[in-house]
Amino acid sequence: MVKKPFTPQLVYMEPKALDYPLGQELHEKFTRMGIEIKQTTSHNQVRNLPGKNDFQKYRVAKSTLVVGIRKTLKFDNSKPSAEYAIPLATGCMGHCHYCYLQTTMGSKPYIRTYVNVEEILDEADKYIDERVPEITRFEASCTSDIVGIDHLTHSLKQTIEHIGQTKHGRLRFVTKFHHVDHLLDAKHNNKTRFRFSVNADYVIKQFEPGTSPLSKRLEAATKVFEAGYPLGFIVAPIYLYSGWKEGYEKLFIELDSKLPRKDREKITFEFIQHRFTKPAKRVIAKNYPMTKLELDEEKRKYKWGRYGIGKYVYQTDEQKEIKETLIHYMEKYFPGSKLEYFT
Ligand code: SF4
Repeated sequence: MVKKPFTPQLVYMEPKALDYPLGQELHEKFTRMGIEIKQTTSHNQVRNLPGKNDFQKYRVAKSTLVVGIRKTLKFDNSKPSAEYAIPLATGCMGHCHYCYLQTTMGSKPYIRTYVNVEEILDEADKYIDERVPEITRFEASCTSDIVGIDHLTHSLKQTIEHIGQTKHGRLRFVTKFHHVDHLLDAKHNNKTRFRFSVNADYVIKQFEPGTSPLSKRLEAATKVFEAGYPLGFIVAPIYLYSGWKEGYEKLFIELDSKLPRKDREKITFEFIQHRFTKPAKRVIAKNYPMTKLELDEEKRKYKWGRYGIGKYVYQTDEQKEIKETLIHYMEKYFPGSKLEYFT
């Protein structure tokens, strides 16, 4: 479990990144830190990372940062949690065995941060304008754990303050990291929902290496709540194992004992059951060959998905039991809190 904020082992800079103040700032920062900086014309050229085999290369990639420009300014949809995904970064230094990024990032699991933040925010403004008078929500953690790298870039902080000034924009993101101190004084104007991903102890210990321990996440959640941010928890992936009901109740007891009592009814919850795809199963077996993650298609229910790639979710009766059990805990320990969705 990490306690220290992420520091890349290797940095690649796209030359155009130096045309932006953040690009220059990062170049200076990494030079001062004595981190090796390589030039690359495009992130696609980031090949030949050190490592004897795929297993080692994957680990090196997860601690490699590419500083570049976001060229595609078309935002993806991000249902059910928001209207759009705002692209500030891709990739993550965490090693969660079940992470969906393993398949979406394919052979390029390194972390990319984009320095043309102003252009990204201008685009966000256009999306907001198109939907006025409706509220437009942006999800900042669709393609990375943005909080985990923001102590280096502060682009999330800039986005929080930008959305804070809009009338119809809202921002949300989720994290498994506790390095939130630089975000506490951001002028969020109640327009950003800061969520933490939490889970039963068993799931965190078995499947979430390289992320902050639950106790640290809850300390950070308390600070964020006291800084006036709307707060939420995503319980995901909800995973069935022997003793899961006790495990998830312990989680809620822990949340109850650690969080301030005031304004609790403002805390939101999102529940997401574990799912996997066939391509994900293959990648997980390659990257985490020792994993205990249960990925048996026979035990699951097939659910048709986008692009023809279906997901394996829990059986209907198991889903019902998961939903009822967790809602019961939420109502017992956080009466008045709202469940945004179960999926
Ligand atoms: Fe994936 Fe989130 Fe874990 Fe990072 S912290 S590896 S984004 S699940």
